[in-house]
Amino acid sequence: MSLLQPRDVIDHVTEITPEFLRARGLHGLLIDLDNTLIPYGSYEERQAAGIIRWARDLQRLGTGLYLLSNATGRRAAYWLERLEFNGVGLAGKPNPRAYRRAVGALGLPPGQVGMVGDQLFTDVLGGNLAGLHTILVRPLANNALPHTRLARQLERLVLRRYGHDWKT
Ligand SMILES: [Mg+2]
Repeated sequence: MSLLQPRDVIDHVTEITPEFLRARGLHGLLIDLDNTLIPYGSYEERQAAGIIRWARDLQRLGTGLYLLSNATGRRAAYWLERLEFNGVGLAGKPNPRAYRRAVGALGLPPGQVGMVGDQLFTDVLGGNLAGLHTILVRPLANNALPHTRLARQLERLVLRRYGHDWKT
C-alpha cells in the first residue's frame, strides 16, 4: 500500500515554491501534464500564462523541470513548446524506467527529484517505485471517461486511508 502513498498532497502546483523545494532537499521536478499543469484536453495557451510564469521562475532559480506525460507525443510537443522546458509524451507511466530516464535527463540523483502529478496509480506509484519524492496535486478538471471515474473513486479510498479527505 505504501507505494501508493504520496509524500505531499497539495491543491495546486503553484504551491510548489523555492521554499517548498528547499525544505525537502529537491533540485528538480518531473511534472505530469494533463490535470496537473493543464486541464485535460485543453490547448488554451492564455489560461496557462500563470503556469508558464511559475515554471519560468522556478527554473530561473535553478530548479530543473521535466515533463513526464502519458499524453500523445503531439499534445506533449504542443505544450513543451510553450512551457519552455524539456520532456516527453507517451511516457508509459507508471513504468519506473520512464522516470529513471527523465531523472537522468535532469542530471540529478533520484533523492533530489520530485514527481508531481494528479493520479495515484500512475504518477505517484511510478514515482515511488523510482525512489522519488512524490507530490499529489488535486486534479484541475474531472474527466468524464468511465475508467478515470473508477480510478478517482479508488484514489479517494486510498487517500482517505492516508488521512486525506478530498472532495473532487
Ligand atoms: Mg494527469
